[in-house]
Amino acid sequence: MGLYVRQLKLGPMDNAEGARETAIVDAAWDVEAALRAAEEDGRTVTHALVSHHHFDHVNGLPSLLESKGVPIHVHAADASELDRAMQSELRLVAGGDAVEVGPLRIRALHTPGHTPGSTCWQVEGEEGGIFSGDTVFVNACGRCDLRGGDPEQMYASLKKISELDPATRLYPGHDYGDVPVSTVQREREHNPYFALLGSLPGFVAHRMRPRR
Ligand SMILES: [Zn+2]
Ligand SMILES: [Zn+2]
Repeated sequence: MGLYVRQLKLGPMDNAEGARETAIVDAAWDVEAALRAAEEDGRTVTHALVSHHHFDHVNGLPSLLESKGVPIHVHAADASELDRAMQSELRLVAGGDAVEVGPLRIRALHTPGHTPGSTCWQVEGEEGGIFSGDTVFVNACGRCDLRGGDPEQMYASLKKISELDPATRLYPGHDYGDVPVSTVQREREHNPYFALLGSLPGFVAHRMRPRR
């Protein structure tokens, strides 16, 4: 069973090839365009998955709720940061929980460090992938110096990701790299933050160094 992913500049959606049910990951900016894209492909958005609470990842949730009453899956540690008006639509997850989207199981991999509730959504199976939010980018990782950030947690989270099946495709929350989609293997080879995973103090010092 192939994995259907349509990456818009606004954010990715995923489901199984041939199934109608589709999850939108980080509904933000132009949600109407995302819903239209899904319809064009003969699919319908049935679930929302949130990587973390930052505005640029969740600002489309109100309009998504207005057009479609879909459940919003978010880690409990980031949920309280979301708008009070949508609290009743939230389905709180913990690391290891899975969400079923049609025939797909999408597991919440709790990866704090950028925010306390940062979650990589992992599609299981042979053609699996992870939606890595602001935790891993192509050749980079998320900031740890914002409120709720923690470089030691980021270190542990990157370690967890580096230990996944190397063939796992990686869909980052921002297109900052030289390619829009990577793999765990590629990041292990090229991502400078993965290269620092041998030493926690070295990683923390490097990650917290002010940017110029
Ligand atoms: Zn963020
Ligand atoms: Zn972001």
